[in-house]
Amino acid sequence: MKPFSKNIIFLDTEFSSLDPYRGEILSIGLVKLDGKELYIELKHNGEVDEWVEKNIIPSLKKPKVSREEAVERIKEFIGDTEPYMVGYVNQFDAIYWHKLFGIENNPCHWIPIDFASILFASGINPERYNCENKNNFYKEIGIDHSKYRKHHALDDAKLLREVYLRFVEDK
Ligand SMILES: [Mg+2]
Repeated sequence: MKPFSKNIIFLDTEFSSLDPYRGEILSIGLVKLDGKELYIELKHNGEVDEWVEKNIIPSLKKPKVSREEAVERIKEFIGDTEPYMVGYVNQFDAIYWHKLFGIENNPCHWIPIDFASILFASGINPERYNCENKNNFYKEIGIDHSKYRKHHALDDAKLLREVYLRFVEDK
């Protein structure tokens, strides 16, 4: 595949609920095309879904920062190039990203790019990205996904970068 732009940044977030009216962002992983990375865990005092309590909360081990500090650190990391943010099944990431930044303050391009849609448009079942899918494509594309922690925002963003680069012709 030949992407439209190299001005991209890989993103993954973990959040407290799949219900965007109740949920808030808990952690953010960002990885640039050149591999530079940023990982942030945010303070959160509200309720969390049962699945999140079991699968996400135990993996959040870094000092928690305020939402304001998270915004500042992310803006400093991204700079003013307005990269396209690339996520895998990115609708929740995008919603929680916008809840954090607001519409006017978004440091990324306003169009979020979904890697699942890229796979779909390339004739590949987007479910094959999922490591837990028995038909996943990791062996075929030569990536050892076991080195990445599951449901960890930074590792998910790093894995996405590695997979993305496998599918790009002109790196
Ligand atoms: Mg994740």
